[in-house]
Amino acid sequence: MALIVQKYGGSSVADAESIKRVAKRIVDTRRAGHDVVVAVSAMGDTTDELLDLANEVAPIPAPRELDMLLSSGERISMALLAMAIHSMGFEARSFTGSQAGMITDSQHGAARIVDVTPVRLREALDEGAIVIVAGFQGFNRDTRDITTLGRGGSDTTAVALAAALDADVCEIYSDVDGIFTADPRVIPKAQKLDHIGSEEMLELAANGAKVLYIRAVEYARRHGVLIHARSTFSSSEGTYVLGEGMKNPREAEGAAAMEEPIVAGVATDFGQAKITVAGVPDVPGKAAEIFKIVARSGANVDMIVQNVSATGRTDISFTVPKADSAAALKALAGEQTEVGFQNLVHDDQIGKLSVVGAGMRTHSGVSAVLFEALSAGGINIEMISTSEIRISVVLRDTDLAEAARTVHTAYGLDGDAEATVHAGTGR
Ligand code: ASP
Ligand code: MG
Repeated sequence: MALIVQKYGGSSVADAESIKRVAKRIVDTRRAGHDVVVAVSAMGDTTDELLDLANEVAPIPAPRELDMLLSSGERISMALLAMAIHSMGFEARSFTGSQAGMITDSQHGAARIVDVTPVRLREALDEGAIVIVAGFQGFNRDTRDITTLGRGGSDTTAVALAAALDADVCEIYSDVDGIFTADPRVIPKAQKLDHIGSEEMLELAANGAKVLYIRAVEYARRHGVLIHARSTFSSSEGTYVLGEGMKNPREAEGAAAMEEPIVAGVATDFGQAKITVAGVPDVPGKAAEIFKIVARSGANVDMIVQNVSATGRTDISFTVPKADSAAALKALAGEQTEVGFQNLVHDDQIGKLSVVGAGMRTHSGVSAVLFEALSAGGINIEMISTSEIRISVVLRDTDLAEAARTVHTAYGLDGDAEATVHAGTGR
């Protein structure tokens, strides 16, 4: 008998029928003899609808009240799910984030979990109940207020519960079948992975893959939680996300050890913009000035390139999320004279392609494959950056999909058949 934490995303509990289907799945797990703790998201697009409502009554909704409002979405789905389970003859009890002991810092809208004290959950489990917890929310001890963890935060709730309860596995159910070698909507030949290292998963998530939330993967990595990402809409197994030193459960069950591929996947990101600060005096301290200004604007810088200087001046280009670029530009423009640069160029027609694989540490020639594939496709590279297990390039956004397909093929990642893409978003 195991303790299994399951997380169901909004698309899995979008209406009464879906809630009943999820209830059946939970009951089946219970029938198999396991203890079950469920973290549930708000139904369908409830969170977006509540946000829209808030913006209709107030241009800038008060953060405390916004969290009160948004946290109600998950209370609806948790109670309905518990009722559905009851009517199937099983004992289920729902808990809000604060009842579940999800203790966070006080930052409304982006709270971080600082402690989990699942006393009531343990009691309920000991009494034989199935436990349902509202995802995405917590409680701050100092302010005694309800907080939310940021969009997509139910993944983090599930992982934190799994860590606190020492669960055997944290199953994250969504409307996609698992983790793929690429986004199947961009690369139809993408294949579902049997497993992936948490480090690789973090790089993919940070570079455009949306199937798991980065904070949930980080939390799992830090606390040694085994994640199994799988689909609510099929019974097939999904993808295991393995932390350091974790064994693939399928191998533990006797399956032959698989050879680790050098490259795990290809990520595409259409969400970045490029800013070029042109004609920067080529003297020490200028990069520091520029990036201090950008940091103060709240923009999150990703890639940076500085050109060689010819005339005592140089150009510095960097990428930021599209949503941050206006603020960064405004901040830089405000200090043009102080910094002494000549002009600013904004370009939001870029796309970022990243290749991720732990095998890069020990294999040479991995980047050459990428550059050869792009060159054979006649695709121009504008920026390059690397980490130990990732190579990223910035391209024209109109080239990104084609480039990703070419590169996916070049690394031998193409599957035989086209991946089935449900209408879903992976949530
Ligand atoms: N309901 C919240 C959202 O839509 C949390 C979640 O779905 O994980 O962001
Ligand atoms: Mg949602």
